[in-house]
Amino acid sequence: MWVPATDARSTTHDAGVERLLASYRAIPAGATVRLAKKTSNLFRARRRSTTPGLDVSGLCGVIAVDPVARTADVAGMCSYQDLVAATLPHGLSPLVVPQLKTITLGGAVTGLGIEAASFRNGLPHESVLEMDVLTGAGEVVTASPTEHPELFRAFPNSYGTLGYSVRLRIELEPVEPFVALRHLRFDSLPELVAAMDGIVETRGYAGQPVDYLDGVMFSPTECYLCLGTRTAAPGPVSDYTGRDIYYRSIQHPAGRPAGKTDRLTIADYLWRWDTDWFWCSRVFGAQHPRIRRCWPRRYRNSRVYRKLVDVDQRYDIGDRIERRRLTRPPAPLRERVVQDIEVPIDRTAEFLTWFAGTVPIEPVWLCPLRLRDADGWPLYPIRPGRSYVNVGFWSSVPAGPAPGHTNRLIEAKVAELGGHKSLYSEAFYPREEFDELYGGPAYRAAKAAYDPDSRLLDLYAKAVQRQ
Ligand SMILES: Cc1cc2nc3c(=O)[nH]c(=O)nc-3n(C[C@H](O)[C@H](O)[C@H](O)COP(=O)(O)OP(=O)(O)OC[C@H]3O[C@@H](n4cnc5c(N)ncnc54)[C@H](O)[C@@H]3O)c2cc1C
Repeated sequence: MWVPATDARSTTHDAGVERLLASYRAIPAGATVRLAKKTSNLFRARRRSTTPGLDVSGLCGVIAVDPVARTADVAGMCSYQDLVAATLPHGLSPLVVPQLKTITLGGAVTGLGIEAASFRNGLPHESVLEMDVLTGAGEVVTASPTEHPELFRAFPNSYGTLGYSVRLRIELEPVEPFVALRHLRFDSLPELVAAMDGIVETRGYAGQPVDYLDGVMFSPTECYLCLGTRTAAPGPVSDYTGRDIYYRSIQHPAGRPAGKTDRLTIADYLWRWDTDWFWCSRVFGAQHPRIRRCWPRRYRNSRVYRKLVDVDQRYDIGDRIERRRLTRPPAPLRERVVQDIEVPIDRTAEFLTWFAGTVPIEPVWLCPLRLRDADGWPLYPIRPGRSYVNVGFWSSVPAGPAPGHTNRLIEAKVAELGGHKSLYSEAFYPREEFDELYGGPAYRAAKAAYDPDSRLLDLYAKAVQRQ
């Protein structure tokens, strides 16, 4: 049963694909093909293009939800906010819902994503059953484990350099109206990691099932695991879209073995990190009680903060203020360190201890994951059957002796520990190392087959050379 299986929906989608193809044909043959999209969660500065981009304006919705098969057909540029709004009324959600409302399904599949269900469900691309992709050659092909399998497998972590997904069929899973939370405090990183590992293995804690699991390190002696359990039991719920702030709510004094409990509606749980962009809203003053009171609720979300960051980057506002204050010569005073990395769970305490002693950023986000797929994905070759922990840190540090100093230290440490780094932000790898880390041979084979004339950028050019 398709809901709503109206012809109007699929006709609208077909019209959106037609507009996309017309815009592809309008791009001069020698020009690079790019997206013309209003939102982005990329965090590397990119060159501005003067040629028109692909018109994706008709590819932003949910085409249909099938509550019986528990699948959804979704346009490539549909935001998770719209996708979740369409599935929750059926008591269903995508298997992994990235925390920021503006992240799109196509963006999370090609650029990877992670969330608190990833220890059960892997990464967002692992629940894609099939997808229609506009290739660099200008054709729309359907890729699945059996059709164009080399494109299907190379697509995750290709960042739109093999093609753009225009429709994806994804699996959904049942949810309950509420999530019961338990926040556990640890004053030792090895203990936190041991508890996390146990939950990943057993999917439970102290006799209770655990459906969602992430955590926060404020310091090596104050860190938390946040356990979520789906529940239909009615009762009071918290609201962190108002004056209270979610990440502050998980903190509590040491010496409470049972931790601190809380409850949220499923929608508020899925978007718990969006209201304050994890904790990053504090740089705009949005967490100061007086400013928060005046900051309209509808402007407390990652979309607004992201726009503020874009303005800051375009006009260099932060550095200008700092230079005026310090009356120093114009040189970059801060280095942006906005990264998500994955290390094997048994090396996580080591990484976090090193990080806390080397990089002056706190808090950091922790999220365990285990791939769902038994074969793994060539462009992001973390090992199936092994647990990893994603560590996210999004801030800046004093500039070092060379550009990218701290980012390079992090890259080296992650490689030393057998980990991997997401590519949505800046990267500094030499080409050979990049090739080794991100599936060079599989990428080149797919690139030759699906973008033979290099109409799309190359992954290294996009991720490292910021083209
Ligand atoms: C501060 C920060 C925190 C983050 N934290 C998380 C997190 O906790 N969890 C998480 O899941 N992710 C996180 N991300 C990463 C985010 O999921 C990825 O950057 C993702 O690719 C963004 O998707 P988007 O839809 O915004 O795509 P965009 O930013 O618009 O594009 C990302 C890339 O994908 C390409 N692309 C976009 N749409 C398509 C498509 N339909 N087909 C093919 N290629 C396409 C674009 O060309 C571009 O190269 C974070 C990012 C930032 C900046």
